[in-house]
Amino acid sequence: MGDWVEFDAVKQAVSLEAVLHHYQVPGLRRRRDQVAGRCPIHGGQRDDSFRASLSKNAFHCFSCQAQGNVLDFVAAMEKCSIREAAWRLQRWFGVGTAAGPVQPMAWGLRKVELVREKEGCNPPLRFVLTGVDHGHAYLQQRGIDRALAAEFGIGFYSGPGLMSGRLVIPIRNPHGQVVAYAGRAVDGGLPKYKLPPGFRKGSELFNIHRAAATSSQTVIVVEGYFDCLRVHQAGFPFVVALMGTSLSAGQKSVLTGRFDRIILMLDGDVAGRTASQTISTKLSEKCTALLANVPEGAQPDQLSPAALRDLILEARQGGSELFGTKV
Ligand SMILES: [Zn+2]
Repeated sequence: MGDWVEFDAVKQAVSLEAVLHHYQVPGLRRRRDQVAGRCPIHGGQRDDSFRASLSKNAFHCFSCQAQGNVLDFVAAMEKCSIREAAWRLQRWFGVGTAAGPVQPMAWGLRKVELVREKEGCNPPLRFVLTGVDHGHAYLQQRGIDRALAAEFGIGFYSGPGLMSGRLVIPIRNPHGQVVAYAGRAVDGGLPKYKLPPGFRKGSELFNIHRAAATSSQTVIVVEGYFDCLRVHQAGFPFVVALMGTSLSAGQKSVLTGRFDRIILMLDGDVAGRTASQTISTKLSEKCTALLANVPEGAQPDQLSPAALRDLILEARQGGSELFGTKV
């Protein structure tokens, strides 16, 4: 990373809420957009010396007198310069790059935070599952090679706990933090997919952090994790999975806040086709919604890369830009 750093862009793109989240500051109380608690910078005894306004993106500590914006906060937490703080925020949140202007994702972040606020978010996990086998036979059967599985963090988990003996699939928030693992049965066991109790599926889109980090204005929306992997494999990294057939208000805001054009590629069954109609109606108020016509009885994860490409190009007919070229 060179000397280039765009302070204003970083301040614009990263909310104080996201940064407080990043540090997992314990015991903060929140009332509307005001946050109060023990100061994460100096510590201290009082549990109300630290105050932050999320709408103003500003904080103040009445004890140690630290105050300012996200850059000041990170500089104080990391005991580093403002410049170094900006670099760290760029790295953590994928904001802008030394090479050019702020990437579109940066502009989506605020919106994403607002949505999370409304619906309640899934906090980042404080642990990672280790010893995950990316080369498990089940993955091979489904055409997922070790490299792709490792890239997505997917693999068989034989350790203890809720996901024991299942294929684990990390679900990440738009910042790339893991908020849950989905556990898929590999032996026909039920439920087919297990999610942690209390997990709010409607607050997340599988693979959004990767899709949003591309320069594409188009996003492909599929139902399941494996559909998503398949489309990614076929050369379209701007793909997300709904983890089902419904689109929540939160998911809709995230998608339309970041992308202009949405290609719905749900399963070729009654549920998928009905959902496609409902969802495209919802989306078309805000953006261009296009349908990919998955063959009857098929789902995207069963199609060849060439067939997927054809479906996507077909859906794009009527659109004028070339696509996939800028990714
Ligand atoms: Zn303080």
